[in-house]
Amino acid sequence: MLHHNERELYQMRSPKILTFYRDEICVKLGVSLTSRSPEKPKLMMKYLAENGFTPYLDIQNFEPFTKEDFYLAHTKSYVDRFFLKGDDSNGLSWSKEFAETVRYTNSSLYHAIRASIDYPQSVTFSPTSGFHHAHPNSGGGFCTFSGQVIASLKIYRELGLSGAYLDLDGHFGNSIEDSRSFHTDVSKAIPVGCNFNPIGRDESYLKDLKRCLVQIGKLYREKKIHYLVFCHGADSHEWDDLGGGCNTETWFKCSELVYLFALQTGIPLSLSLFGGYRRDDYNSVLSLHAGDLSICLKILCGVNVGYTPIVKSRQ
Ligand SMILES: [Zn+2]
Repeated sequence: MLHHNERELYQMRSPKILTFYRDEICVKLGVSLTSRSPEKPKLMMKYLAENGFTPYLDIQNFEPFTKEDFYLAHTKSYVDRFFLKGDDSNGLSWSKEFAETVRYTNSSLYHAIRASIDYPQSVTFSPTSGFHHAHPNSGGGFCTFSGQVIASLKIYRELGLSGAYLDLDGHFGNSIEDSRSFHTDVSKAIPVGCNFNPIGRDESYLKDLKRCLVQIGKLYREKKIHYLVFCHGADSHEWDDLGGGCNTETWFKCSELVYLFALQTGIPLSLSLFGGYRRDDYNSVLSLHAGDLSICLKILCGVNVGYTPIVKSRQ
């Protein structure tokens, strides 16, 4: 724990993470055998409650998106088609219930980011995923709409502020790059070069992440970006079904580096979950995310949850 004067020197945050969650954010039954993403927010919140995180999460209410919000980053024909009768371009089975949930997941992300700017003394959290592979005219890779693009466009138009995404999912987040030609404001909301996706395995991955953090720090100091969204996808872990290049130690080292960076710079910080697909032990996915949050709480919020992650070897 840091001493009082160190708390002032570094940009310590409030001891509670502002968490944008409502039960309507999730479907009740599985919609895809491959991805549990549509159920992930509920599974995550249940897991966090069972593991002692409740006192540190300040649950916030929020309104769902309307169709007009989705038009910001998508063609009207795709949005209307999706809500009317579905579209299998996201790789998920469609239902009216599932279509309703995406109004909430996308809105949760926007509200978390907006709150990180309005209340920079708090870390904010959207326990969601399913955004970063969508295209302006279709879904893709378990993602329906480009939640990041919509959120940042709204914030740019409301406040004139720009942001960066640190996407530590195992897969490149194409939705931001694919949206740049859809509207010129996208590159004002998320400047070119501000969609950070480190690459490599273990040591080289950490090296690339450090390079990204140096760049983000520079952009923040120069006021070219005003907030950071950290998406620590669990499918960058080596034992995930869609496995990436990080062993358990590396994966949590990434968390530590990002939260120390936020502590030192004071950059407004919001969190989102992104991928994680282990069918042999989904609790390992939730455990990685919970471990990440416990590191955030320890480094940035000065509280010790006493949580020990359990990431099981692949069966
Ligand atoms: Zn992924």
